[in-house]
Amino acid sequence: MIPETTRAAVLRAYRKPLVLEDLPLPPRPDPGAALVRLERTTLCGTDAHLWQGGMPFVELPIVLGHEMTGRVVALGAGADTDALGRPVELGTRLVWSESACGRCHGCAVLREPVLCADRGYGFRQRADRAPYVTGGLTEYCWVSPGSARLVVPDDVPATWAAAAGCAGKTVVRAFDRAGGVPPGATVVVQGAGPLGLFGTALARASGAGLVITLGAPDDRLALARRWGADEVVSVEEVPDPDDRVARVAELTGARGADLVFDFAGSPTTNYEGVLMCGQRGTHVVVGLAGPDAVAVPPGVVMGRELRVLGSLNGDVSDLDRALRFLAGNRDRFDWNAMFAPPIELAAATSALAGMAAMTAIKPVIAFGTEELC
Ligand SMILES: [Zn+2]
Ligand SMILES: [Zn+2]
Repeated sequence: MIPETTRAAVLRAYRKPLVLEDLPLPPRPDPGAALVRLERTTLCGTDAHLWQGGMPFVELPIVLGHEMTGRVVALGAGADTDALGRPVELGTRLVWSESACGRCHGCAVLREPVLCADRGYGFRQRADRAPYVTGGLTEYCWVSPGSARLVVPDDVPATWAAAAGCAGKTVVRAFDRAGGVPPGATVVVQGAGPLGLFGTALARASGAGLVITLGAPDDRLALARRWGADEVVSVEEVPDPDDRVARVAELTGARGADLVFDFAGSPTTNYEGVLMCGQRGTHVVVGLAGPDAVAVPPGVVMGRELRVLGSLNGDVSDLDRALRFLAGNRDRFDWNAMFAPPIELAAATSALAGMAAMTAIKPVIAFGTEELC
């Protein structure tokens, strides 16, 4: 039985408390769609950015959240398998990637779902039009017909599966775009939020020789050390971008880094990242630098024969590998150390404010009557 409504936290005005509302649920799923009762939603920096009005082109009202997992409660025709052909039934735990149109240059020519011109991000769905709820801050959530699903393995906790949905797959894709980590490579990770922390762990697990993580505050840098950073640089203690470049030069014996991942997205990140690269180094741009970005020095890109690459979110392939990376390294990295204690949907606003203030690394919303543990 599909309930007639779902409780959701709706963003109606930027920086204002989300409004708890009962939104309609259609009586039956469209062909290819699924209705999922969410178990966990983790919040992403983009959610906090959206809540603060940092993406004003997004139309309100919306239901925020794009890292979530839950169990299937209704299936449309033809939605009975996941992207790998595994059976999907009522009760199956799912994660999914945004839908792609299949008919644009990005989809059809480049065959890259992340480059789809009409990619179905949850936050593009207005909360006052059917199907109302495709975001994560809702008890029941529609999985759009074109989105690629994956069955969550039984041994992957819901919180990890949710976080793979954006943070995990974004980091996996960035490493893939870079062409992987050569054995013994020097890797610089810019940022110590969820992406930077996952990136630190992935660099370590991929065979890097030296991993340097830059970020703040200190509790995040402490976790970066636990997850494999050999050296950390506090951007609070070293506030000048050129001083940070000098610090990395010192730590790398003036050789510079083979790989520099921008998971921070500040106006100076890419300027610093390029200067931190050694000869034939690669700088991967993942963060959003914003309109005040400091120019990257082209003479350095040329003189050191650098590669500067962009990497945008991730698709179902990255999502699958993120799930496998988290599950396969559960004994090596204490993934739970990144997550805040689960809270109820009604507390989502304070979690977003905590992210904006950088007091929470990764808030977790728990649904239903299950224990908050
Ligand atoms: Zn497309
Ligand atoms: Zn995200």
